[in-house]
Amino acid sequence: MERLFGDRFTLITQNVDGLHLRAGNSLERTYQIHGNIFFMRCADACTESPFPVSESVPSKSKGDVLTPEDVRLLRCPGCGGWARPHVLWFDETYNENY
Ligand SMILES: [Zn+2]
Repeated sequence: MERLFGDRFTLITQNVDGLHLRAGNSLERTYQIHGNIFFMRCADACTESPFPVSESVPSKSKGDVLTPEDVRLLRCPGCGGWARPHVLWFDETYNENY
């Protein structure tokens, strides 16, 4: 539909898995209003710019101990505070800045 309608097309999605982008929709015309799970952002909001989740983050199971490297990958590169998934959680409201 985006190819057909061009600049008259806008996609608003609650998907957080990037499905529409992988299917060919453009980032410019796709509004992921619940965020994107493949990105993180600063939990203290030192910046409004999300950053990609490192491909080096290993899978963990409940009870696994985090290594110092695991912890480093979960930190905000801007301020060193905790990073969080760039998604809207159940107890949160929309924030137009994100
Ligand atoms: Zn930060």
